[in-house]
Amino acid sequence: MFREIGIATGHCGFCREYGTVAVLVAALGEREEKVPGCERCWRATGNAANLLRLVRLGKSPKAKATPKKNRKPGRGQPSAIQAHRDGPEHGEGSSLASVADASP
Ligand SMILES: [Zn+2]
Repeated sequence: MFREIGIATGHCGFCREYGTVAVLVAALGEREEKVPGCERCWRATGNAANLLRLVRLGKSPKAKATPKKNRKPGRGQPSAIQAHRDGPEHGEGSSLASVADASP
């Protein structure tokens, strides 16, 4: 993982566009690896992170035909929310009742 972010003027490491770039500096042993990127390309890396998350969760992004349900996992599974909140502190918990009421 990179350890610092700097700002510089140069070519984007992804699209080669010249301008203001954010430079991620990673320490690789004795040397440093610097990866410059423009704003547009760094925003696109968020898509890469989402893709990795899907892979980690074992979900192929193209295999599922219902992307809407995948984006809100909390709505479809109220039992999972209750499992988290059902701790020894709350016991029966009046908050659980409100959660149950909110779910359709
Ligand atoms: Zn770029």
